[in-house]
Amino acid sequence: MSDCIFCKIVNGEIPAAKVFENEHVVAFMDISQVTKGHTLVIPKVHKENVYELTPEIARNIYEVVPSIANALKKEFEPAAMNTINNNGELAGQTVFHFHIHLIPRYGKGDGLG
Ligand code: 5GP
Ligand code: ZN
Repeated sequence: MSDCIFCKIVNGEIPAAKVFENEHVVAFMDISQVTKGHTLVIPKVHKENVYELTPEIARNIYEVVPSIANALKKEFEPAAMNTINNNGELAGQTVFHFHIHLIPRYGKGDGLG
């Protein structure tokens, strides 16, 4: 989709701090880090939300989540981690290209309570 910011990241039209990439998936640092290491995992194909994912696309995405989470755990040494996906404005979705947030958690000091 030409006006989708995440498609532009996939195509290299706008820069992103990529932490992982393969044929189907790319992961990059969120531009507005809610905590240190906040990362997004997206399919390269434009799918708006969870309802549009095929089982194959879902497999491609979730297949790489554990290794990315482990890499973030090693790098940032958080106490815990949230993996979150928002679907629809009411659920907090602001970019309408499916993505999973990996949010390292550091305890009381991380600002998320
Ligand atoms: P949502 O609210 O849709 O679940 O999450 C969208 C996320 O995308 C937000 O955390 C926001 O900071 C991030 N984001 C929006 N635009 C950009 C961008 O151009 N680059 C990167 N790296 N992240 C972005
Ligand atoms: Zn897109």
